[in-house]
Amino acid sequence: MGFAFVSGSPALDLIATVESRRHAPEDLLATPADLERWVQECDELPDRVTAGAADLDSGVRLREALHRLALDRVEGRRFTPAGLVVVNRAAAPPPPTVELSDAGLRLSGDLRAALAQVARGGIALLADRGTPVKECGRPACTRLYVDRSRGARRTWCGMDACGNRVKAAAYRARKQGEVTR
Ligand SMILES: [Zn+2]
Repeated sequence: MGFAFVSGSPALDLIATVESRRHAPEDLLATPADLERWVQECDELPDRVTAGAADLDSGVRLREALHRLALDRVEGRRFTPAGLVVVNRAAAPPPPTVELSDAGLRLSGDLRAALAQVARGGIALLADRGTPVKECGRPACTRLYVDRSRGARRTWCGMDACGNRVKAAAYRARKQGEVTR
């Protein structure tokens, strides 16, 4: 499985690099090279960064702190102080630089800058109480996403990843019921 960028925020996409958190967690960031690839694949971060073991530690620490704070937000609690310390610290270094050319926008910076960008985005998202952050309606998924749909009626992190799977399972269950009846 590759990385998915469907949450509507790099901070939530970073959190989702642990899949199925509740039941069978799988960590997609096992090595520094995985973190380099994640940064490279994220549209809102620099194309090329190099990461060492300490960078992976920082990335994972930021990810877990963001997860804690996002859950606090989803469940309407006060933010966990230890999570605030980690995220605010990660957001302090200068973010990547942006340049415009005919080829479009170019972001550059090192891994610290990339993580600062992720942390800043997470802070902006979590501070804005008007933007709904939800957990995917497929229980095994556990992905958090920003619901920007009209009336905030979105139920799944993504229709392909989860919505269709839940609908197919419900259909199979109905079929099964008809057979055994
Ligand atoms: Zn999902």
